[in-house]
Amino acid sequence: MGRAIPHTSSRATVLDVIRAAGTISRAGLASATGLTAATISNVVRGLLADELVTEVGRAESTGGKPRVLLRLVPSSRYAVGVHLDAGGTTYALTDLTGAVVSRMAHVGTREEDPEEVPARMVRQVDALVDGAGVDRERLLGIGLVTAAGVPAPVSLSAQDLERATGLSVVTGDDATASALGEYWSGEAGGASVLAAVYMGATIGAGVLVDGIPYRGAHGNAGDLGHVCLDVDGPECRCGARGCLEAIAGPEAIVAAARADERTAGAAGLVGRERSSVVGGFTAVVRAARSGDPTARALVDRSARYTAVAVRTLVGIVDPDLVVLTGVGQAVAGETYLPAVRRELGTAFAGRGGGPVRVRLSTFADTAPAIGAAAMVLRSRLTPLRTPGLRLPDDLSESGPVPVH
Ligand SMILES: [Zn+2]
Repeated sequence: MGRAIPHTSSRATVLDVIRAAGTISRAGLASATGLTAATISNVVRGLLADELVTEVGRAESTGGKPRVLLRLVPSSRYAVGVHLDAGGTTYALTDLTGAVVSRMAHVGTREEDPEEVPARMVRQVDALVDGAGVDRERLLGIGLVTAAGVPAPVSLSAQDLERATGLSVVTGDDATASALGEYWSGEAGGASVLAAVYMGATIGAGVLVDGIPYRGAHGNAGDLGHVCLDVDGPECRCGARGCLEAIAGPEAIVAAARADERTAGAAGLVGRERSSVVGGFTAVVRAARSGDPTARALVDRSARYTAVAVRTLVGIVDPDLVVLTGVGQAVAGETYLPAVRRELGTAFAGRGGGPVRVRLSTFADTAPAIGAAAMVLRSRLTPLRTPGLRLPDDLSESGPVPVH
């Protein structure tokens, strides 16, 4: 072999290229990956044997014999994504390509006995999988995502869920997962650097470079909610001052709306002190839409501050696509999208490379769950970049490796 790339890396790369391309020939794979024809042939043989990939049709080639095309077998493997936050639990069942086969939402976790949560999740995962008629043998595992940097609504470890379901579980944060959800859904349009700006109960960002999450040394990269926008600003729960979240995050907006008697009434927040941050934020956005001036001003201000924080992020990571996602953006994207576009248009008008594309996710409220399932697909099928993982030399003989 001309290149010193271990076999697992070749397999990961080939799978990813086939997924991205839809259909591709072996020759196409060789030129897209830089791997030798012999390596491609070996890797593809393993993928065919595992029934992850199938041969379809033939592409016309210029002279010579026609080339066989390869594509993923979507129904060969499935993954479950679970997004757990204070407002509830969202589930997505995806096939091997990351396409959503089925989804489900469970509202409310606050009043629930933490001991009951794993059992409830088992029932719901079963319902999701059985309802879709998916053979459990084909399930690769469960991805579980929660908000980074805030206490989980219930204490649920990967081990608890593994024990309860008998499936391997990978964990992650909602912002990174939502970026993966956008990328795997195919809506990220082949972005080489994708920044997903996530707004749920908190604000974060997931950055992918060629589809691979950039997590930083401690998994803390993309902490957009704690970008400082005012050095003398209000204290933040992180201990610093003037963070985006403290000034204009969903929790700050809900608190400000509650502090205004008329707006609290208009938003229906009175007597609902225990409603989740997302529930409260949704109520304030509705009040803004129905003409409450204070609610309108709060949401507009949050959009402006968020846009400035996104400008900082864009200045640092230079993405070619920014996607606004998360349930907060599902609810209020119509206000945040123009604000972010305006800010980036003004700030980077003179910069090389043209304008940064900014899009609103078309499935903002389920992106973290879809991304959680994508985490499973990545870690079980293309595990090379999972840190600290020791892999056998040839996955096609040993089968996928469970990640804990
Ligand atoms: Zn902070």
